[in-house]
Amino acid sequence: MECDKCDRDAVMHAAYSGGHLCEDHFCQSVEKRVRRRIREDSLVPRSATPENPETWVIGLSGGKDSVVLTSILDETFNNDPRIEMIALTIHEGIEGYRDASLDACVELAEDLDLRHEVVTYEDEFDLKMDDVVEKDPENMAACAYCGVFRRDLLSKYAEEYGATKLLTGHNLDDEAQTALMNILEGDVRQVAKHFDASLGSFDERGDSDHFIPRAKPLRDIPEKEVALYAHVKNLPAHITECPHSSEAFRGEIQQLLLNLESNHPGTRHSIMAGYEELAAIAANEYREDGEGDEQTNLVECERCGAATTRTVCRKCKLVEAVNAV
Ligand code: SF4
Repeated sequence: MECDKCDRDAVMHAAYSGGHLCEDHFCQSVEKRVRRRIREDSLVPRSATPENPETWVIGLSGGKDSVVLTSILDETFNNDPRIEMIALTIHEGIEGYRDASLDACVELAEDLDLRHEVVTYEDEFDLKMDDVVEKDPENMAACAYCGVFRRDLLSKYAEEYGATKLLTGHNLDDEAQTALMNILEGDVRQVAKHFDASLGSFDERGDSDHFIPRAKPLRDIPEKEVALYAHVKNLPAHITECPHSSEAFRGEIQQLLLNLESNHPGTRHSIMAGYEELAAIAANEYREDGEGDEQTNLVECERCGAATTRTVCRKCKLVEAVNAV
């Protein structure tokens, strides 16, 4: 099959748009959609100037999503004096997994001449995920611990580096899965939080003074296209599944969405379009009821000083529980 825009062979067919594109036009199409998302989410404010630049911290895990995000951001902004970028890798302490993806992060950061910081659960919390899984004091899935620890460190270090935004590589499939999970679980509060997804979701370390907006510039790009982009561009992405991956419900939703998308192309896009409207309504309801503004109820964690709605934050409680075993 020929590319729709030239006479070269197509490398991808997007059933949801009917398009066939060659390597070059496919890559241009991905980059165009990411840049459009950056514009629509107003990630570069008018106030950003060479004298007063934005500082973007990018969560770089070494997987295809974060590697593609970092590469496109670098290509777009590396000559723009209004934007400073720092790649941040969190090392969870998972034998045979994170070391390999850390190599990919280091290679990419060197290729792009990008500032790269690495923080580890071991240095920060005196634990490794491999030990957490073995001890499991709360009888929870590994990802439930890991997500709390990772969010804490991303926020803590984004704040430390003076970030004005924290960018992550969530793709369209990730976002559609999360949307469907929140709806199936009846979690309206989570749906409402999505309203601010392009510019922030509440997390326990952000209070109103230190709140660091979040952004997901890949959220319009399907997972397969992110993988193809990484392959075509020969980016150093590490494609191995974490041995502790335990999100069974997400796995079921993922399969359901793949089947739906195959029978009804465009399902993921329409889920997200409807979800964003729903989230706006839910967020307004919470605000009117005065329930949604969790940031006004924040106090400092007695142990680490992070902003939290409890006396001791969830991260400190989990760290203590693990280290007590
Ligand atoms: Fe952590 Fe789960 Fe991701 Fe593994 S799959 S790195 S345990 S969140």
